[in-house]
Amino acid sequence: MTLIASQPVQTMPAEGCTDAPVLRERGQREVFCGLTGIIWMHRKIQDAFFLIVGSRTCAHLMQSAAGVMIFAEPRFATAVIEERDLAGMADVNDELDRVVSRLLERRPDIRMLFLVGSCPSEVIKLDLSRAAARLSTQYMPGVRVLNYSGSGIETTFTEGEDACLAALVPELPAEHATAAPSLLVVGALADVVEDQFIRLFTQLGIDDVRFLPSRRADELPPVGPATRYLLAQPFLAETARKLESRGATRLAAPFPLGAEGTTGWLQAAATAWNVSAETFEQVTAAPRKRAQQALEHYRAPLTGKRIFFFPDSQLELPLARFLSRELDMTLVEVGTPYLHRQHLAEELALLPTGTALSEGQDVDRQLDRCREARPDLVVAGLGLANPLEAEGIRTKWSIELVFTPIQGYEQAGDLAELFARPLNRRDRLKV
Ligand code: SF4
Repeated sequence: MTLIASQPVQTMPAEGCTDAPVLRERGQREVFCGLTGIIWMHRKIQDAFFLIVGSRTCAHLMQSAAGVMIFAEPRFATAVIEERDLAGMADVNDELDRVVSRLLERRPDIRMLFLVGSCPSEVIKLDLSRAAARLSTQYMPGVRVLNYSGSGIETTFTEGEDACLAALVPELPAEHATAAPSLLVVGALADVVEDQFIRLFTQLGIDDVRFLPSRRADELPPVGPATRYLLAQPFLAETARKLESRGATRLAAPFPLGAEGTTGWLQAAATAWNVSAETFEQVTAAPRKRAQQALEHYRAPLTGKRIFFFPDSQLELPLARFLSRELDMTLVEVGTPYLHRQHLAEELALLPTGTALSEGQDVDRQLDRCREARPDLVVAGLGLANPLEAEGIRTKWSIELVFTPIQGYEQAGDLAELFARPLNRRDRLKV
């Protein structure tokens, strides 16, 4: 592995952290691979199935990462590439066709099948896009077969969702040539959160609202030049690029975390639809107040507490903005795997001037900085959280923030609770 020294990029700070210096690190990283996204994606698209074409390691990762979260028969599995396949003694494509045929016979409820590439399938150069095209021809119109890669080399775990949604974009129907503007919310959200947003948009007078991913394979939203889209998650760079190549326009906004982020996010749509300031206030005032009241409860335990983010989910900047501005937490360092300046422009502008930002990772150096700073709370992946706990540093697993419904006004209190709980738990243990 090549280690490249950290390179601070010096520019003059402007508004918030818009032009703040960012410590760029390209060393050893501690992250999960993109397969992990299947754990929440398989619950979102209710008639889809994710077939990982990988090794026993991939199967074990999924089993241990998803084990605690499976409530019904899972809609994912691993087709294990055996040694005979690796040695070229068997035709992997034939094997794959057999596995898919058995699967679709047993699970007639499947309408969309994702073949998910892994490190082993990439190593043997298995062309899953050709396999998906071949199988689609065979099983359409009943089952659509798509593919994407969840391989762990040079990725971070939320990129799995980005790759999955990006694979869906070419499948979206074209909008009608005379279509009126429609709103597309992009990024997997819990159904309860989607329902809340639909109600708010309807009250604002924005009726044609769709979601990507849709809950069912046959409800894919149309896309085209009349589509305005709002990102609900900050890790969807490739999906956004593909939507724009189909003519859609992104509405620039902060992410819908906390009362302030949710208001800014809704405001972006309201502005695009020329909703009056009075209507906007009428619709958002009550839920915004509920969110602010819910946050009040967490102010005392969180105000002034020092928090350090290791780069993991790509949610770090919006979370840091929420915690610093709505709960007065102090940001020691905000690390993110990738800093997409365009998609995060509104978040950067809202971060306190002087926030220490880092992009990428050199894990040992970052651990040294963290240990030296002795923050009150660290947000990190599972691999780092447990050793830090053993050193007496309180932690929050970043992956939990992706599984939990945290977006929107009604979830603002729950989001604060996720940060208050580890602090509270340690205080109670001390008694
Ligand atoms: S990093 Fe590669 S080999 Fe490991 S679980 Fe992920 S895809 Fe499989």
